[in-house]
Amino acid sequence: MEILRTVAELRQWSRKERNRSSHTIGLVPTMGALHAGHASLIRAAAASCDRVVVSIFVNPTQFGPNEDYAVYPRTFDADCALAQSEGASAVFAPAVEELYPAGAATFVEVEGLSHRLDGASRPGHFRGVATVVAKLLIAAEPDQAFFGQKDAAQVAVLRRMVADLRLSAEIVVCPIVREPDGLALSSRNLYLSPAERTQALTLSRAVRLVEGLAASGERRAATLITAARQAFAAEPAIRIDYIVLVDWATLEPVEIAAPGTLFAVAAYVGSTRLIDNAILG
Ligand code: AMP
Repeated sequence: MEILRTVAELRQWSRKERNRSSHTIGLVPTMGALHAGHASLIRAAAASCDRVVVSIFVNPTQFGPNEDYAVYPRTFDADCALAQSEGASAVFAPAVEELYPAGAATFVEVEGLSHRLDGASRPGHFRGVATVVAKLLIAAEPDQAFFGQKDAAQVAVLRRMVADLRLSAEIVVCPIVREPDGLALSSRNLYLSPAERTQALTLSRAVRLVEGLAASGERRAATLITAARQAFAAEPAIRIDYIVLVDWATLEPVEIAAPGTLFAVAAYVGSTRLIDNAILG
């Protein structure tokens, strides 16, 4: 497996694979600290594309000033081993100055969408995400780029961006990978104390509850959201950030859930912010 450090190396690798060898290319953007959720994306990419490049980059522009950029887990050697064992052909792991050269002043702003859900509680977050993913898509020119439904609002922002910028990559969304007890895998789960780890189950419990109610015919958003809030009432140590039912494309609230409506929750467990969601059937 090749380790690529510069945009020029990534571009050269991609062009060589595509032009000389006629290979299709899959890109899996990550911030490292890889877990089984990331592994599922790499596996999906390897099943669908001839060559897979995994990017590992803790993107400073998507963190707020009081967020965990400095302490975000960095486990590069283990990440490379996992990427290779799941079928990656290359890892792209640039330095910050490589993606943001001195004086960098160009950002991608997906208006409207970028300020909803996580974008509302984390100002600038989706601007940072859209900017770094645009840079990766432009440099790697993948046929497909793989993202987790875990970050469902991010998917909405990136789909809009790819459509608007007329980028050629197809966005592929992979299901949420969970622990056996339901907790959605996240690199930030490492921050949870044992007590918080138990409290964190409230998110997946609320998601399951709403999925169940919707499956049995309850379509009123207000009723579904009230039910989810009641699940949180049992855990006063958790602070709800948002509980919403929105159109997955626009992230605008809906009053009546339809097939494809996104139910999403974000909450602080101690100082750790966790998210979970379901796409209603
Ligand atoms: P991150 O490293 O947190 O930026 O995540 C990189 C990619 O992995 C994103 O597309 C995430 O949505 C995806 N991802 C993170 N956690 C999970 C999970 N539990 N299941 C599926 N995909 C995930």
